[in-house]
Amino acid sequence: MSSQATADKTYAPSEEFVSNAHIDAAKYQEMYAASVNDPEAFWAEQMTRLSWTKTPTKIKNTTFAHPDVSIKWFEDGELNVSANCIDRHLETRGDQVAIIWESDDPNLDKKITYNELHQQVSKLANVMKGMGVKKGDRVVLYLPMIPEAAYSMLACARIGAIHSIVFAGFSPEALAARVEGCGASLVITADEAPRGGRNTPLKTNVDAALAHGDLGSTPVLVVERTGGDVPMVDGRDHSYAALMADASADCAPEVMNSEDPLFILYTSGSTGQPKGVEHCSGGYLLWAAMTQEYVFDYHEGDIYWCTADVGWVTGHSYIVYGPLANGATTVMFEGVPTYPDAGRFWAVCEKHKVNQFYTAPTAIRALMARGNEFVENYDLSDLKVLGTVGEPINPEAWNWYNDVIGKGKCPIVDTWWQTETGGHLLTPLPGATATKPGSATTPFFGVQPVILEPTTGEEIHETEAEGVLCMKDSWPGQMRTVYGDHERFVATYFADYKGYYFTGDGCRRDADGYYWITGRVDDVINVSGHRMGTAEVESALVAHAKVSEAAVVGFPHDIKGQGIYCYVTLMDGEEYTDELKVELRNWVRQEIGPIASPDHIQWAPGLPKTRSGKIMRRILRKIAEDDFGALGDTSTLADPSVVDDLIDNRMTKG
Ligand code: ATP
Ligand code: MG
Repeated sequence: MSSQATADKTYAPSEEFVSNAHIDAAKYQEMYAASVNDPEAFWAEQMTRLSWTKTPTKIKNTTFAHPDVSIKWFEDGELNVSANCIDRHLETRGDQVAIIWESDDPNLDKKITYNELHQQVSKLANVMKGMGVKKGDRVVLYLPMIPEAAYSMLACARIGAIHSIVFAGFSPEALAARVEGCGASLVITADEAPRGGRNTPLKTNVDAALAHGDLGSTPVLVVERTGGDVPMVDGRDHSYAALMADASADCAPEVMNSEDPLFILYTSGSTGQPKGVEHCSGGYLLWAAMTQEYVFDYHEGDIYWCTADVGWVTGHSYIVYGPLANGATTVMFEGVPTYPDAGRFWAVCEKHKVNQFYTAPTAIRALMARGNEFVENYDLSDLKVLGTVGEPINPEAWNWYNDVIGKGKCPIVDTWWQTETGGHLLTPLPGATATKPGSATTPFFGVQPVILEPTTGEEIHETEAEGVLCMKDSWPGQMRTVYGDHERFVATYFADYKGYYFTGDGCRRDADGYYWITGRVDDVINVSGHRMGTAEVESALVAHAKVSEAAVVGFPHDIKGQGIYCYVTLMDGEEYTDELKVELRNWVRQEIGPIASPDHIQWAPGLPKTRSGKIMRRILRKIAEDDFGALGDTSTLADPSVVDDLIDNRMTKG
């Protein structure tokens, strides 16, 4: 079936699913209307899902007016995020499992109850205090996906320190820039990080990072993950195990204002220099908790698994803060989807009886390319809801996820959001929304998306519309500023389209009012005056049986203004031939129309991706333009060697 044909099909949840769901279609309509008609009343009611030590009396105080942008929610409220994620659950669910840790090694896992979580976090908070960390200080975490990563986040929250997590795959240079950028007073790391059967030398990377500039005396706390022999600098480096052994498990949570910062996190760097996004305590936590419950239809006793890394915002909101604020059981996975083989995700789902599963399109496409035999051996009958995030999901991959993983009975939630938004903004609710493959569907409560005409900035009021995606008003989980650079915050998100929050994404709204992300605004291609999103051409390519992944960019074209340049990865075992290039060109013409006919196809056994699996089209654009010199910030690339291969290929084969 062609991608267009499948894209038009809708999938409604079963009656049985709807009858058990928190939110059905009528309830969604009612709550959504309330959320935008009277935000003050709506959020005053919703905020009661958190435990406040001082109940807010001021609910919303926000303006997008350029240049005086200011965002405050619950501004006179007080609470502590770690107390909300741990202490308040102890009475009713102290012995319930909070975190299921699945290690890189398939034979090793661990279950941590809320009582144990409380003890570990309190001890670590005392250790950090003992090392001189105070409220408002910044702490950099450079850790594997181990329970200590969650303990560290929550211990920071407990004492009011601001964490900045740096993905453990980043280089010493990227780490140094982030330690310096926030003036960190502590770095927490581990000796080594096992991933896919190999150990990354984290502590050695920290040593290299701290050799930069004036960072040499920054204290380091080293978790013993593998017990590998690592050099320790006397007086600067400290053993986690040793300090925890002596620490008291009694640490009262610091009273925090709702607007006090909780963390800093850099964006993925797909479109340029990563931005240091700052999130606050109350509004962020409320957003993470509420979306985790409603978007995944999480129920008491469910086992919930988000496969992201905590170095990415998805790991912050949907492994740690959202689920724990709800008293959920959350799975934390240290490994990779293909180790020991491409069935690992499904083995873990079976082993821990996972009910909600949340991953990225890139992982789905990669596993789909490996064949169904890796899925068929596992019992996936506990799955109830499947989620995706990070990029547009091609209808082809959506269908595979739906049929082969969900067996046609699990609603798929395609969640559109950003580091900046704190949590989901456009997303189906599984019991309320009939989904369409490739569409992030409709707004979450309180979210007011608008589509603007890109050049005039005029709001398009017709239901069917295409343009740039902006938000008309604030929501509690919105970022508050760019750390240390409020001007950059205003310039990046509020200057191009005055009065709106500008997402940077292109979007189409269909006749049913559903939203379809068409790609980054920077990536829109203009072929002979026709504007085209990269997502549409990529979806058409991926719909071909032999294609596993595709990335599409524009390049200067004498006649058409811009031509279409496609990078294509084939399914495992397929042959890269010239005949197939001709076939793919014809295929796209037939799927979308002659206007979308690719001008150039380059075979790409690997594509440049961020650590969270997003394709860096800005690099592909440079290669297509033969501009190999200035590739921009590549520090967040997962595998820089892919770029060299593509350049070689471009130079030798044209
Ligand atoms: P940078 O802002 O540094 O360029 P980034 O935008 O990739 O990096 P993230 O905040 O991790 O950083 O990603 C948010 C972006 O991911 C969104 O703006 C959107 O382009 C894309 N995205 C996320 N989820 C979806 C989705 N469900 N469908 C389509 N696109 C998505
Ligand atoms: Mg972005």
